[in-house]
Formats: sequence, C-alpha cells, structure tokens
Amino acid sequence: MSRGPLPVRNPRTGAADHLLHPLDPEGVAAEARRLRALQPAWAALGAEGRALRLHALKESIARHRAPLAAALETDTGRRAVTALEIDSVLGIIGRWAGRAPGLLAAAEVADAATAMPGVRYGIRIDPYPLVGVIAPWNFPLLLALTDAIPALAAGCAVLVKPSEVTPRFIAPLMAAASEVEGLPLALVEGGAETGAALVDAVDFICFTGSVETGRKVAKAAARAFVPASLELGGKDPMIVLESADPEAAADIALSASCRATGQACQSIERIYVAEAIFAPFVEALVRRAEAVTLDWPEMGDGDLGPFIFEAQAHKVARQLAEAVAEGARIHTGGVVETLGGGLWMRPTVVTGVRHGMALMREETFGPVMPVMPFRDVPEAVALANDSAFGLSAAVVAATLEEAEAVAVQLEAGAVSLNDAALTALVSDAEKSAFKASGLGPSRMGASGLTRFLRRRALLRQTGRALPLAAFSGRGR
Ligand code: NAD
Repeated sequence: MSRGPLPVRNPRTGAADHLLHPLDPEGVAAEARRLRALQPAWAALGAEGRALRLHALKESIARHRAPLAAALETDTGRRAVTALEIDSVLGIIGRWAGRAPGLLAAAEVADAATAMPGVRYGIRIDPYPLVGVIAPWNFPLLLALTDAIPALAAGCAVLVKPSEVTPRFIAPLMAAASEVEGLPLALVEGGAETGAALVDAVDFICFTGSVETGRKVAKAAARAFVPASLELGGKDPMIVLESADPEAAADIALSASCRATGQACQSIERIYVAEAIFAPFVEALVRRAEAVTLDWPEMGDGDLGPFIFEAQAHKVARQLAEAVAEGARIHTGGVVETLGGGLWMRPTVVTGVRHGMALMREETFGPVMPVMPFRDVPEAVALANDSAFGLSAAVVAATLEEAEAVAVQLEAGAVSLNDAALTALVSDAEKSAFKASGLGPSRMGASGLTRFLRRRALLRQTGRALPLAAFSGRGR
C-alpha cells in the first residue's frame, strides 16, 4: 500500500485538488503513546472538570465554524447538510457534557450489602485509557465525534481516523481542539492501513462503516483482545399500511430516502405498500420526486448534493441497471448525471422489483426508492425481515397503535412510527443493531458513555474471613 501523499477527489468538480498524508503504523503507535500520556491528567480532572473542557471545545468549534464548514463543504459537496452536521455536533458535545457527571456518579456504588453476611461491596469505575474511532465519509465530522465525545466525557483519551475520502475537515477541527487545554483527542489521516494500525494501538474500538470492513475490524479487535462497537450498514424497510394517507406517506418516504442524497446508514431503501393504496402512493411519490432539484450549479441552489464517493455512484448505477434487466421499471430519475465533473442522481422511483435483485438486498446509499406491493401484514413483515441487515425500519399507518403492532415484529434495532429515519435525529433511545448491521453496545442512550467504563468491584469483609475448613469436608 502506498504511504505517500494520495490524491483526494472533490465531489463537485471531480478534480483531485487535495492531498492525503496517511500516517504509517509507527506514527499511529507514537500518537497512541502521546495520548496515553495525557489521559491520566484528563481522567483526574473528574467528571465536572472534563465537562467544563468539553464546553470549551464546543465554544472553540463554534469559533472555528467558518473554516470547518468550508472544509466539510468541499469534502461532501453540500452546504445545508454541513450546517446541520456542525449544529448536531455542537448539540452532542453540550448534551454529553451535561449528562456525563450524573451518569458517572450513578455508575459508582459507595457501599452496599451482599448476599454474604459480613461482606459489603463498592464499585469504582475506570475508563478505558485509549479509545480508537474509525469513521466513514458520509457524515465526516459527526461520525468522527459521535463516539469520541462520550469517550472523552468518560475520561478516556481518543484517537480518531476519519475516512480517506473526506479528510479536509481534520485540520480545522484539530485547530479548534488544540485550543482546549489538556484535551487528549487526535485525528489522524489515512486509509485502511492506518485504520488497521489504530485497532492494534487502542483499548476499545468504535467503528462505523460497511459490513465488509466491520468484519475485518471485528477480527482484528478479537486478535488484539479489545472490545469493539460496530455500527454498520443497513437496508432499512418502510411499511405503509392500508390505513395510511398515501400523500403523507410519500412525504415521509421521499425525505427519509433522499436526504443527504441517500448517503446515510438509516436511509429508507425498500418501501412496501398495501396493495389497496399502491397506485396512489407511487403516483404521489413520483410527483414529489420530480419536484426535487439538484443543488447545482452553486451550493445552495437546490436540494440534493452530489455523490461524495465516486465508486458509490457506479454501484448505484449497477444495481439499477441489473434491476431493469430483470424487469424493474424506473418511473423517474435513475441516471447518474455528470455535471461539472461531479456525479449526481435525482430521486429515483422504481417498481416491478423482487427480492432476488441486488437493489433489494444490498445497501444502495443513493436517492433510490424501490416500491413493492404487499397483500397483508404478515407478507409485509416477512418482506421487511427478509434481509441480512437489521439497522432500523419504519411503519406508517393511520394510528400509532396500528403502526406499533407491526413495528414490534420487525428485526431492526429502531423503528420509526408514522415517520422514518428518526434515529438520525434522536440519540436518547438505546438501541441494538440486529443481524449484520452491527455488534456491541449501543452508541445511543446512556450506554453511549457507560460502554467506555470498566468496573472495579471492591469486596469488603467486615467480619471474619471464612477459614479453609468452611471449604473442606471437615467442616460439614
Ligand atoms: P468503509 O467500511 O469502506 O470504511 C470505513 C472506514 O474504515 C474508513 O475510515 C476506512 O479507511 C476504514 N478502513 C478500511 N479498511 C480498514 C481496515 N482493514 N481496518 C481498519 N479500518 C479500515 O465504509 P464507508 O464506505 O466509508 O462508509 C459507508 C458505510 O458506513 C455504509 O455501509 C454505511 O451504512 C455505514 N454507516 C453506518 C452507520 C451506522 O451508524 N450504523 C453510520 C454511517 C455510515
């Protein structure tokens, strides 16, 4: 693998206008040693002290917002989503700084009785010294920090390796972080080799990315014997029941499938609609899809940004071409357009799809909405569950009660009722990744922080220790 500077493509122009400087394994190990040396003082600040520094990080990022936004806009080719991404990160930092002291206090036990007479116990928490984070390209800033912030709040040092596809935001983010005294956080540049070296250098690994790479990281974590939180891909289904309003359901589907050009793990990628409302739903969805504009030629001119990663556009095109060859019909969109060197796709509505098609089985990561009719609820549930993935799902019905009765039958870690893709906006609710969509403790809810704590039980004998005779035949 090449370690020299590597060209980085601009998603709006297609030009290689930036250089990536991958950190080699020795460099990763040195960075890990540097962070480990900072961590004891960071942990010693205590929960409140660290919360103050995290508030300082939030303020520093806000001060550096302009260069950070400019870099992220170039990395991803999108302005409105970048603004939301930065706001979301500022919110995450504020929330963890506020919640961490209470969660950390609750995780400790001062003194409690046990079932054994005379023996009492306490629990002290001990953060993993160094947490590693490996992040994908679809939300570069958010996914670099969404695990890092609770780990810092817990008292860990954090080493992050963002995607090699979107590295421009690293320098302005590090400039903001360097203004916070003693913050044991570093972001390093690199691709697979740097990521693999990172797994070997840390005590806990958080990975967000594809199932394929997730499997490699899981094996490497097992070899290194460190815990891993894996947040992987999805093929999220949406079920539209007969009682639903097809117009409102089409609004939900369009938004959840096409925001960020469908480049989100919790995008709706399969839509199952009750036969009775299939035709009006498809008609409403096509009408809405055709009203969406591309964010071109200037950022801010329209709705959908370009594909961030060139290979992804080709993957989406291949899935669509195969589906059409097998009898699917594209009602609108479906073409990868080259504009100014960038690769774009308009919202795409497809019918005539079957589960044998890659379009219905593989992750698509584009603004594509395959729609399939179902006869009854058992068939809808069976279709939704017929997937290797189990990230999240959605059910739309006339009432929340009706939607919930279906939602509890779905093999997915989070189900939005009468909405879709809410997991992108709500982080309070703990959830599990089902099937190939992930492994390990949830990044959502309190576990987002408590997973970074080891517990040391202190077992206190207040009476007399049991003699050997208590464990031998003589005492019986
Ligand atoms: P990817 O798996 O190709 O890469 C992810 C990261 O892993 C990158 O930083 C890459 O450099 C690194 N990497 C590659 N090989 C490695 C190795 N052998 N060891 C260690 N690190 C290695 O994923 P991507 O294409 O960047 O991102 C898109 C994927 O991410 C999609 O599948 C999407 O669903 C998933 N995703 C999941 C969530 C979630 O929360 N579940 C969120 C966003 C994205």
